[in-house]
Amino acid sequence: MTDTIAAVATAMTASGIGIIRISGPDSRKIVGKIYCSKNGKKRIEEVPSHTINYGFICDGKETIDEVLIMVMDGPRSYTGEDTVEIDCHGGVLAMKRVLETVVKYGARPAEPGEFSKRAFLNGRMDLSQAEAVIDIINAQNEYALKSSLGQLRGNIQRVIKEIRERIIYQIAYIESALDDPEHISIDGYGEELKKEVDNLLLKLEGLLQTVREGKLMKEGIKTVIVGKPNAGKSSLLNTLVGEERAIVTDIAGTTRDVLEETIVLHGISLRMLDTAGIRSTEDVVEKIGVKKAVESAKDADLILYVVDSSVPLDENDEEIMGILQDKRAIVILNKADLQQVVTEEDLRKKTDHPIVTISAREEEGIDLLEQQIKKLFFEGELSFNDEIYITNVRHKAALDEAEKSLELVKNSIEMQMPEDFFSIDLMNAYEALGSIIGESVGEDLVNEIFSKFCTGK
Ligand code: GDP
Repeated sequence: MTDTIAAVATAMTASGIGIIRISGPDSRKIVGKIYCSKNGKKRIEEVPSHTINYGFICDGKETIDEVLIMVMDGPRSYTGEDTVEIDCHGGVLAMKRVLETVVKYGARPAEPGEFSKRAFLNGRMDLSQAEAVIDIINAQNEYALKSSLGQLRGNIQRVIKEIRERIIYQIAYIESALDDPEHISIDGYGEELKKEVDNLLLKLEGLLQTVREGKLMKEGIKTVIVGKPNAGKSSLLNTLVGEERAIVTDIAGTTRDVLEETIVLHGISLRMLDTAGIRSTEDVVEKIGVKKAVESAKDADLILYVVDSSVPLDENDEEIMGILQDKRAIVILNKADLQQVVTEEDLRKKTDHPIVTISAREEEGIDLLEQQIKKLFFEGELSFNDEIYITNVRHKAALDEAEKSLELVKNSIEMQMPEDFFSIDLMNAYEALGSIIGESVGEDLVNEIFSKFCTGK
C-alpha cells in the first residue's frame, strides 16, 4: 500500500497560479478535510472524477487560499493513482501554505521525481518515456524538445520492443528445438540465425549512429571563435548573440573562470566557449590567435575562424589554418562591406573547410553561416517525423551492450558451438535492451534515474 504524496508542481517563484499536486489513495480524503466550497455543501470525496471544483482551502476556521481543485481518479491520471491538483494563487507564500496544510492533514512531501516514478511503477509509461519527461523539462532548443517528445510518445520504446520480440522468438525457437528434437529441426538453423542477427545488428548500428547528433542536439555544439586581433571575433559574437532569435545565458565556468553563452539559432544550440577570452586578452601570443586556436581545437565541436578580408593574409593565418585542418571548422571571411584584399578563392587554396563571407558589422551573411553549421552537423534536413535520436547515455550503453552480445552470437555460430550457447548471448542482448524501457532493471537504477527529476514531477 503506497502512501499519499504532495508537492508544488510549478516553479517556486511568484507567478499567476501555482499547482500543488497530490497523489495516492488518500488524495481525495485529505483534500476533503481542507476544502470548503462556496455554499459549504460540496464535498471533494463525492465529486465525479475529472472535474474542476471552485472553492477555498481552509485549515479549521482559517482560510488559506482561493483555489480550483482538479480531481482525477486512477488509473486515468499521470501517476495512475488517485490524484488531486490544487490550483492556488502563484505566490511563493500561498503555495507554501497550501502545501503545508495538505501535509498537515496527512500527505507526505514528495521526493524529487516521485510522481513520475509512480507513473513508471504503475505502468503508465516505460523508463525511456519517463526519462523523456526530464529531457522535455530541460530542453534548451526546439530540436532537443522534439526529440524528447518523440521519445515520450514511445518511438524508442517501439523499436526496442520490436527488436526484443525478434530476439525472444529466436530464443524460444532454440529452446523448443532442444526440448523436442523429433519435431523441430535445428539443421541449418545457424545460418538462418546469422542472417537475422545481422539484420538486428544493422538496426542497432542505425540507432547508435544517431548518438553523436543526439548529443549535439541535446547539449549544444561546443563552439569557439578564433582569429587574429581585429578580425571581428567579438563583433561576430555580438551579432549572433544580439539576434532577436537568440537566447543568451550566462553560466559561470566551474573549472576555469570562463563565461559560456548559449545561442539558439533556428533550433540548434551553440555553446559559445570562452567568450570572456574573446572580449579581453593581454597575452601577446593569444592576441595573434594561434595559441587560442591550438587550445580550442582540443575540446570544441566547432571552430569559427574569422579572417579580416580587408587586410592581407600572413603566416599566422597559415599556421591557424594548418591547426584547424583536421577539425570541424568554418572559415569566416569577415568585413565583406569593405574593399576585399582577401577573397574566397585566396582562402580556398589554403583550406578545405567551408568558407562563408559575412559582414559582422552589417549583419550580412549570418544566415549562410547558420546554414553551413547545420550542414556540417546534421546531414540532410532534420525532420523528426518518426526519426529517433538517442540522446541518453544510459540508452547508448545498453545498445552497445546488446550489440556486443549479438556479435558474440555470431562468433558462436561461426565456431559451430552448440545451440544453447546462442541462447545465452541472445538473452543478454534481450535484457540489455530491456533495461532501456525499464524491464529487468534494479531498484537502485530506478531510484537514481528519478532522483534527477525536480520535486513535483
Ligand atoms: P576582434 O579583435 O577580432 O574581436 O575584433 P572586433 O570585433 O573587436 O572588431 C575589430 C574592428 O573591426 C572593430 O572596429 C569593428 O567595428 C570592426 N569590424 C568588425 N566586423 C566588421 C565588419 O564586418 N565590417 C567592418 N567594416 N568593420 C568591422
